[in-house]
Amino acid sequence: MANETARNIGPVILLGPPGAGKGTQSKQIVDRYGVPQISTGDLLRDHVGRGTELGLEARVIMARGELVPDELMYGIVATRLREADCQRGYVLDGFPRTAAQAGWLDAFLEKEVFEKSEKCPPVVIQLLVDYTQLLLRLTGRRSCPTCGRLYNIHFQPPLVDELCDVDGSKLVIRNDDREEVISGRLAAYETQTRRVADYYRAQRRLVAVNADRPMGDVTAQIFGVIDSHCLGGC
Ligand code: AMP
Repeated sequence: MANETARNIGPVILLGPPGAGKGTQSKQIVDRYGVPQISTGDLLRDHVGRGTELGLEARVIMARGELVPDELMYGIVATRLREADCQRGYVLDGFPRTAAQAGWLDAFLEKEVFEKSEKCPPVVIQLLVDYTQLLLRLTGRRSCPTCGRLYNIHFQPPLVDELCDVDGSKLVIRNDDREEVISGRLAAYETQTRRVADYYRAQRRLVAVNADRPMGDVTAQIFGVIDSHCLGGC
């Protein structure tokens, strides 16, 4: 296999509603190409956990399943993208989520990245999933508070109900995966994020992938998209 961890892949943007598998597929890309995964949900949860000013503001909004205002997002995303590990590329998971964020990202890349290095525009992959599948994925999602391992009680249950296979900890439900919050998150996706797909589709940069298939098949297709995108020398 070619050394996939030595070349630039540029930004990879994964689009799709909550539960479409963005986190899972991001991890596969990270392992193959050796680039970081940048999840804005994780960045925000880190701020919430540390109790920063931004975290305090974001916590209430996230608990309602709504989107954190764009202006608050730009600062944390810009800071993260300027870090040294992002030079060969990165996977954006959960950003951009509004058309304004997509426009901001293009302007940021033009100004701060393309001026200094070879132009490698984002590859934008949209994960398509059926609504019923989404609900099962989201309501079934559990994680281990000790080791971080992810489960799904419908599709990838632990060996013993609600306990981690690795360390036996009681599995937890993410605050925003609670049923009452999920419908709000999906509604926010419908109204806002669809416009992000429209934004990239209008520029012919959107590649749609059917994510209602076994994980490995979806991953293989995503690798194919990234590899052919990068043949141009980025
Ligand atoms: P996620 O882990 O990507 O599902 O994000 C969890 C929550 O963080 C979302 O429901 C939003 O409240 C917030 N969030 C994450 N990314 C963004 C973003 N790009 N813009 C606005 N809010 C975001």
